Amino acid sequence: MDLKQYIADVKDFPEQGIIFRDISPLMANGEAYRYSIKEIVKYAQDLNVDKVVGPEARGFMVGCPVAVELGCGFAMARKKGKLPRETVEVSYGLEYGKATLQLHQDAILPGDKVLVCDDLLATGGTTAATIELVEKLGGEVVGLAFLIELLDLKGRDLIQGYDIFTLMEY
Ligand code: 5GP
Repeated sequence: MDLKQYIADVKDFPEQGIIFRDISPLMANGEAYRYSIKEIVKYAQDLNVDKVVGPEARGFMVGCPVAVELGCGFAMARKKGKLPRETVEVSYGLEYGKATLQLHQDAILPGDKVLVCDDLLATGGTTAATIELVEKLGGEVVGLAFLIELLDLKGRDLIQGYDIFTLMEY
């Protein structure tokens, strides 16, 4: 399936000079959404995943249906201050300033095999922080899956050594 027809390229969003890859049309099309999830599930099937982790918010949209299909649990990596119980956290650099992601302390059990899902891999900062959170809790990241990879931003350089699956490249 040609998935790129369901991605809207939005010029100058959120800033001048950036082309934002909007996944809303893909999510709005049942066939394209299901196909994308099934492809990620196929990739992950032999990884013996115990838990899927996705960063807020579009990581939930990809990660949750993948977890349901795999028959495993899902853990939310959320921006600081959103999770109500004891957390671990990792701060990472953004283009301007910093962001902090958190996981509940009990979201991952030591030895859990974890698949990290997000909609898009850009610089890799969000994914690297998510991996760090999982590893702080003793989890093992066995795979990373994205709908889209932005090749120019070289996110792979930041997350070397991990197995990466993507459905579309720009
Ligand atoms: P990174 O941390 O790899 O630089 O950026 C990836 C994160 O930012 C992902 O969580 C993703 O949701 C968001 N993101 C950055 N650029 C885009 C974009 O063009 N389209 C979408 N859908 N998400 C983006």
